[in-house]
Order: sequence, then structure tokens, then C-alpha cells
Amino acid sequence: MDYRGKTVIVTGGANGIGRAIAIAFAGQGDCVVIADVDELGGKKLAMQIQKKGESAMFIRTDVSDPESIKAMVRKVVDELGEIHILINNAGISEFKPFFELSVEEWGNVINTNLRSAFLCSQESAGIIKNSGGGAIVNIASTRALMSEPKSEAYAASKGGLLALTHAMAASLSEHKITVNAISPGWIHTRDYEKLREKDHKQHFAQRVGKPDDIARACLFLCGPQNNFITGENFVIDGGMTRKMIYES
Ligand code: NAD
Repeated sequence: MDYRGKTVIVTGGANGIGRAIAIAFAGQGDCVVIADVDELGGKKLAMQIQKKGESAMFIRTDVSDPESIKAMVRKVVDELGEIHILINNAGISEFKPFFELSVEEWGNVINTNLRSAFLCSQESAGIIKNSGGGAIVNIASTRALMSEPKSEAYAASKGGLLALTHAMAASLSEHKITVNAISPGWIHTRDYEKLREKDHKQHFAQRVGKPDDIARACLFLCGPQNNFITGENFVIDGGMTRKMIYES
């Protein structure tokens, strides 16, 4: 597997799924940029990775702010020269009753989850192209495909990410950049041991997902040997979106 020495930006890389993705790429010998609003968590993780003799840096970034994204990419280019891989992972959820969701709350979710992926990609793609090509992965959600009540803004942002994924795959193909999405299901990011048996058993896979399940898929999609895969959405949910749930 050839992952050596790539520069990888992981938005929202300080915690949860993004953290696992950052650790996985660093473990493969890549230099990971943790772009997150969480300064404490991001710096701590960068230090933890560096202590293992691997490469990571933290850049405080608010992906809902276009200027902050521009400054982050400028800093990466100044310090590292190249970008090969961008993981658009940062995201927030806002579950509010349909009639109560304000236009500000709607905008905040859309700008943090969806507009951010477009802007981070737009800022980075020219550099990825000049670095010899690479890969973009957008972390969407199975909520792009199925719903519970009160999830309009989040569902719309993730559905938009799937459409953005194939649109960018078309636009960036000539620059040798693949663009794919991963739609995680239930990925438990803390206190996994506190989950109940029924939490696990409701999945075809007989277990709730872990951040590493998503990190491994990112490594796979960003491997240069897998560049025949582009414009796709990978549902990683232990089978939940394939499960028929009519009650008998
Ligand atoms: P998390 O809350 O544990 O981590 C999200 C990270 O994003 C945090 O480090 C946070 O500081 C950062 N972040 C939030 N707003 C930001 C901003 N404006 N700018 C920069 N960074 C920001 O969440 P998670 O569960 O690890 O989710 C990661 C991604 O996976 C999200 O896009 C989420 O929607 C998606 N997802 C998660 C699950 C799940 O079950 N955990 C399921 C489907 C999709």
C-alpha cells in the first residue's frame, strides 16, 4: 500500500471520527493537518501523534467561516508546500422541531456541514492538482438517505454533500482528484463499553460502529491504487439502512 509521505487535511480532526481518521493517516506515514475549532483537543492530538514519531500539526479553523478556511489552506501551503488528501469531516447536528427551526440555525448547519466542504475543496483542489493529484472524501451520513423527525437541516446538509460529491468528482477528474463520500451510520465515539446489547444486536453486523470503521474506509478510498473509484457514496452502517423495520 502506498500512502507514504502525503499531506492530509482532516477537518474536525480533533475528536470523534475525525480523530480516528487523523491517527490512521499519521500511522501510515502521512503528515496530518488537524483543522478544528477545538484548540485544546486539536493541539493535544497533534502532540500525541508527534510523540509516536509521526507527523501532525494543528491549525485552528472554523469551517463555517470562509476566511478561516482560506487562512488554514494558506498556512498548510506555507508550512508543508503540498496537499494530497482532504477529508471534509467537520460537522454539527441540530435536531429541532420542524416549526421551531430558525433561519439562523438552518444556515449554521448548512454552512458548517455543506458549504464548508465546497469551500475547503475549492481552496485545496488547485494545490492537490499541483501536487500530482489526490483524493477528497466527504463525510456525509445515512441521514442523507433516511430520516427521523426534527432533522431537516442536518439531513439537507448531508444530502447536499452526496450531490456535491458527484458534482466535484466530475469537475475535478481532469486534475486527477477522486471525490467520494462516506455515509456513516451509528458510530459511537465515546464510552463504547456502555452500549447495551440491544444497541449492538439491532445491526446486521451485530455491533455498533466505531470511528476506526470509518478511518479504514478513508485510507482505502484515498489509496492511489483505488483511483478507479470516484463520485461514489459508501454507506458504512452495519447494515442498518438495508434493514426492513415493519413491526409484526
Ligand atoms: P464529533 O462532534 O465527535 O466531532 C466533530 C468535530 O468537528 C469536533 O472536533 C468539533 O470540534 C469539530 N467542529 C465542529 N464544528 C466545527 C467548525 N465550525 N469548524 C471546525 N471544526 C468543527 O462528531 P463525530 O461523531 O465524530 O462526527 C464527525 C462527522 O461524521 C460529522 O460530519 C458527522 O455529521 C458525521 N457523522 C457521524 C455519525 C456518528 O454516529 N458519529 C454518523 C453519521 C455521520
